[in-house]
Amino acid sequence: MINAVKIINDLKNLFFPPYCAGCNSILLYNSEPLCIKCRHQLPLTGFVHLNDNNTEKIFFGRVKIENAASFIWFHKKSITQRLIHDLKYKGNQKAGRFIGRWMGAEMLKSDRFKEIDMVIPVPLSKRKLRNRGYNQVSEFARALSEMLSCEYKEDILSRNDSSTSQTFKSRQIRNFGSAPVFTLNSDLYLSGKHILVADDVITTGATLENCIKQFSHIPNLRVSIVSIALTA
Ligand SMILES: [Zn+2]
Repeated sequence: MINAVKIINDLKNLFFPPYCAGCNSILLYNSEPLCIKCRHQLPLTGFVHLNDNNTEKIFFGRVKIENAASFIWFHKKSITQRLIHDLKYKGNQKAGRFIGRWMGAEMLKSDRFKEIDMVIPVPLSKRKLRNRGYNQVSEFARALSEMLSCEYKEDILSRNDSSTSQTFKSRQIRNFGSAPVFTLNSDLYLSGKHILVADDVITTGATLENCIKQFSHIPNLRVSIVSIALTA
């Protein structure tokens, strides 16, 4: 059975070879989503091992967090932008998984992300999830949870749909600005835990800030943040 699957995959790769998400070259070896050259060119931040890094500074004075890290820098017209574009709009979830495994391996070497109990991806609204068919953060967050040997939970938070009533929208904007608003579906079992909230790209931090505010009433809960990329 395994051989049959392998033969089918080999044939598929022969006729429809995978392309590098960074430079569009054909991937000859099993190296999806990036060729070796593009992997070496990824602008790593090194933040997993760095206190007071730029991702953490974004949240200073806004929400209380334990630690935060983004794995790569996001510049326009870069390998990172093409990788994130493939992940978000072309269904290339291998890109999220690839960064999740790599970042998870780095986190295991660091003292800053010890004793994480649970990884939670920033959710999409129901409407967006229906349209896209998947949450682009899911595979990144799931790979992290596997590497860190902890739980993966995506039903704890939900994201309110921006197409809701005008009254609701104006109230949202008054209370939270124009950033998305979230609802905590269950705070059972969270007291005393250390959770890791994962997103794809951090720019202003407003999305994650609103996410984390949902947990502020839970006693002894520690929250850390990770993202695939940080806008430079
Ligand atoms: Zn490449």
